[in-house]
Amino acid sequence: MHSYNLIAPAKINLYLEIIGDRPDGYHELVMILQSIDLADEIELHSISDEIIRVHCNHPQVPTDKTNLVYRAAELMAKKFPEALAKHGGVDITVKKHIPVAAGLAGGSTNAAAVLVGIDLLWNLGLTQIEIEELGAMLGSDVPFCVAGGTVIATGRGEQLSPLPSLDHIYIVLAKYRSLEVSTAWAYKTYRQEFGNFYIRDTDNLAARAAAVHSGAIVKAILAKDTIAIAQKLHNDLEKVVLPAYPQVLQLRELFASQPDVIGTMMSGSGPSVFALCQSQQQAEQVKLQVRQAIPDEDLELFVTQTITHGIQIIRN
Ligand code: ATP
Repeated sequence: MHSYNLIAPAKINLYLEIIGDRPDGYHELVMILQSIDLADEIELHSISDEIIRVHCNHPQVPTDKTNLVYRAAELMAKKFPEALAKHGGVDITVKKHIPVAAGLAGGSTNAAAVLVGIDLLWNLGLTQIEIEELGAMLGSDVPFCVAGGTVIATGRGEQLSPLPSLDHIYIVLAKYRSLEVSTAWAYKTYRQEFGNFYIRDTDNLAARAAAVHSGAIVKAILAKDTIAIAQKLHNDLEKVVLPAYPQVLQLRELFASQPDVIGTMMSGSGPSVFALCQSQQQAEQVKLQVRQAIPDEDLELFVTQTITHGIQIIRN
């Protein structure tokens, strides 16, 4: 019997712009996604029965067919029935460290790890692109999570174009445990409020995506200019989430008032808010200040940093 242990890192959005609607009902996006070293651990074991079993240590995460890791394993079983028959089923344990429903792609990165792990477990020899294509069937953020790093993502987030990796930018991440923002609600509300400004024709959509490719934040990333990156952070979804969630707004303002914070933004559809700092020491200091200002145990605070990779295999 084989087993694999994998590390599944979270992501933050350095940039998220909604540029239009898509015929499939999703939004046309331009995002810059960044892997961070806050990660879940995924353990995969082959089992003789042709079944999928999921265990997880987090009370908010289901272990039934609705868990994205179950869906990832089910997809592999459907695509590769002969491998399932030959190698048997899979027992999956998810050890959560990434806050759940936080805009940090927790479920997506877990699913990416299962695709990578089953490819190894069943000796399939899939390429990165093939794994990413399978990932796109599970969710828009899954393809990015496979190789991670620093990437421009367009389309609904699944079309990836790598940027030079940013490492050792220190991050303070804040999330209220009990606060969840529905991604579907955030996008629906954005459409209601700003849909009139959407770009509707294909040429102009492509031109807008190209403008971000050659825009200020990408230039700052190419130059590895951390201060300029921090000044150009952007997330359109803040326009609907911050007014509706005063706790998220308060965190965002508190981070912005800290002298050691060089930039702050909500990640994805929230409610996580992150702050960029130039050293680990400064990040620890900011975490301390925020903790003193909001001594609420419901508020989780992490010091983390940017990393250059997605899914990693740690032991087999
Ligand atoms: P994204 O940034 O991709 O929108 P997220 O960080 O906002 O994702 P997740 O942590 O993936 O959100 O969780 C969203 C919902 O999915 C949760 O309510 C949770 O119950 C469910 N879920 C299913 N599978 C998982 C998983 N493996 N890990 C975390 N949540 C999962």
